Amino acid sequence: MISEPNSGGAVRHVAMPIAAPAHITVRDQGRCLELAWPDGARDLLPAPRLRAACRCAVCTAERRAHRQDPAHEAATVSILTAEQIGNYALNVGFSDGHARGIYPWRYLQALATDTPLAELLEREFR
Ligand SMILES: [Zn+2]
Repeated sequence: MISEPNSGGAVRHVAMPIAAPAHITVRDQGRCLELAWPDGARDLLPAPRLRAACRCAVCTAERRAHRQDPAHEAATVSILTAEQIGNYALNVGFSDGHARGIYPWRYLQALATDTPLAELLEREFR
């Protein structure tokens, strides 16, 4: 599902603003989120990975407290809502009632790659 070849092979730390997806679609009964970018690229994001990637204060604190694989408890979760926030990010609501996560476009693109989540959680995306 890697749809954006990027020159250095690494996600850039200092991000230029990028255009919002042309289409944001919740698919397969909420099992995954499809993002169609203006350049024609498509990213498919599984709900458990998205849920585990939530960076809100609550999830961040829980991850620190438990020190466990963040994907552990999110395996069966599905996506209920996906709403664009301004022109820079997506707010996703999940079947476990959690809807505080804000996912900037570049974070979503990085999540669509096979980069380990633990690594992405260490980086900043805007
Ligand atoms: Zn959260």
